[in-house]
Amino acid sequence: MSGEGKLKVVINKPACCGYGVCADICPDVYKLDDNGIVYVEDEIVPAGLEDLAREGAEACPQSALKLVAA
Ligand code: SF4
Repeated sequence: MSGEGKLKVVINKPACCGYGVCADICPDVYKLDDNGIVYVEDEIVPAGLEDLAREGAEACPQSALKLVAA
Protein backbone atom coordinates (compact mmCIF):
# COMPACT_ATOMS: atom_id res chain seq x y z
CA MET A 1 0.00 0.00 0.00
CA SER A 2 1.40 3.32 -0.98
CA GLY A 3 0.32 6.59 0.49
CA GLU A 4 2.79 8.45 -1.63
CA GLY A 5 1.63 11.49 -3.47
CA LYS A 6 -1.83 11.43 -1.95
CA LEU A 7 -3.43 14.79 -1.50
CA LYS A 8 -6.01 15.90 1.00
CA VAL A 9 -8.41 18.76 0.41
CA VAL A 10 -8.66 21.34 3.17
CA ILE A 11 -11.61 23.68 2.81
CA ASN A 12 -11.95 27.08 4.40
CA LYS A 13 -15.72 27.13 4.18
CA PRO A 14 -16.28 30.63 5.53
CA ALA A 15 -14.09 31.94 2.72
CA CYS A 16 -16.08 30.18 0.00
CA CYS A 17 -18.36 32.52 -1.90
CA GLY A 18 -19.87 29.87 -4.11
CA TYR A 19 -18.46 30.99 -7.42
CA GLY A 20 -18.22 27.34 -8.34
CA VAL A 21 -15.01 27.73 -10.29
CA CYS A 22 -13.50 24.76 -8.48
CA ALA A 23 -16.49 22.58 -9.31
CA ASP A 24 -16.42 23.69 -12.94
CA ILE A 25 -12.79 22.66 -13.25
CA CYS A 26 -12.86 19.50 -11.17
CA PRO A 27 -16.45 18.35 -10.58
CA ASP A 28 -15.32 14.88 -9.53
CA VAL A 29 -13.72 16.34 -6.41
CA TYR A 30 -15.43 19.64 -5.66
CA LYS A 31 -19.20 19.66 -5.20
CA LEU A 32 -21.50 22.50 -4.30
CA ASP A 33 -24.19 22.12 -1.65
CA ASP A 34 -27.69 23.61 -1.80
CA ASN A 35 -26.28 26.93 -0.69
CA GLY A 36 -23.62 26.85 -3.36
CA ILE A 37 -20.87 26.25 -0.84
CA VAL A 38 -18.13 23.82 -1.71
CA TYR A 39 -17.77 20.41 -0.11
CA VAL A 40 -16.00 17.18 -0.92
CA GLU A 41 -17.38 13.68 -0.51
CA ASP A 42 -13.93 12.37 0.28
CA GLU A 43 -11.18 14.70 1.40
CA ILE A 44 -8.58 12.42 -0.17
CA VAL A 45 -8.20 13.28 -3.85
CA PRO A 46 -8.75 10.15 -5.97
CA ALA A 47 -5.67 8.89 -7.81
CA GLY A 48 -5.35 10.53 -11.20
CA LEU A 49 -7.31 13.64 -10.29
CA GLU A 50 -4.48 15.42 -8.50
CA ASP A 51 -3.65 17.82 -11.31
CA LEU A 52 -7.27 18.83 -11.89
CA ALA A 53 -7.87 19.14 -8.17
CA ARG A 54 -4.85 21.40 -7.87
CA GLU A 55 -6.00 23.47 -10.82
CA GLY A 56 -9.42 23.85 -9.26
CA ALA A 57 -7.98 24.88 -5.93
CA GLU A 58 -5.64 27.41 -7.51
CA ALA A 59 -8.48 28.88 -9.54
CA CYS A 60 -10.54 29.69 -6.47
CA PRO A 61 -10.87 33.47 -6.28
CA GLN A 62 -11.20 33.24 -2.51
CA SER A 63 -8.23 30.90 -1.96
CA ALA A 64 -10.65 28.76 0.03
CA LEU A 65 -9.13 25.47 -1.05
CA LYS A 66 -5.81 24.04 -0.06
CA LEU A 67 -4.26 20.73 -0.96
CA VAL A 68 -1.91 19.20 1.54
CA ALA A 69 -0.04 15.92 1.64
CA ALA A 70 -2.33 13.23 3.04
S1 SF4 B 1 -13.98 28.35 -6.37
FE1 SF4 B 1 -13.64 28.87 -4.21
S2 SF4 B 1 -15.24 30.32 -3.70
FE2 SF4 B 1 -15.83 29.25 -5.57
S3 SF4 B 1 -17.10 27.52 -4.90
FE3 SF4 B 1 -14.99 26.81 -5.10
S4 SF4 B 1 -14.14 27.04 -3.04
FE4 SF4 B 1 -15.95 28.28 -3.13
